[in-house]
Amino acid sequence: MNQPSYLNLLESGELAMRVAALELLLERCTVCPKECLNNRLNNEIAACYSGRLPILHATLEPQNAAEFAGGKVLAFAGIGRPAKFYATLAGLGAEIVARHDFPDHHRYSEAEIGGLVAAAQALGARPVTTAKDWVRVPERWRGEIGVLAVAIAWREPERLSDLLSRFLPAPATHA
Ligand code: SF4
Repeated sequence: MNQPSYLNLLESGELAMRVAALELLLERCTVCPKECLNNRLNNEIAACYSGRLPILHATLEPQNAAEFAGGKVLAFAGIGRPAKFYATLAGLGAEIVARHDFPDHHRYSEAEIGGLVAAAQALGARPVTTAKDWVRVPERWRGEIGVLAVAIAWREPERLSDLLSRFLPAPATHA
């Protein structure tokens, strides 16, 4: 069986060469059209506010806001900043009647999810969580849990494309 292509890149030394090419690019930076030749390896900050590592700004945009607007929800989350999730839900017009925080990356047990679903029913609310949490809910409960779907909206998507295009092979074209 063929091994994954990333292992070929690693073993052939191609990956190391690409990293070296990136470092060279950052030493006299021409990553964006400003081409200011800033030495980002020294963490010198230019107009882009990026030092050694690029900083690309983005927001998370709710995709299914209408599902929650005006509805009662029991919100729960096991993420770094659950308050942000609750604020997003409230901002969409959801009435949060209960909220439950769990540790980041928490794997929900059957008993925990059963308890949350029962609590939501008692409050006349819908249990809702993040997409990141939903995949950590035992499979048989997933149909009972609403998910606030979000998508990344890059502030400058062309910067991201430009950055990636320098290090990724061009997509294959099919005749
Ligand atoms: S990405 Fe930043 S450091 Fe690089 S050329 Fe543009 S402004 Fe200069």
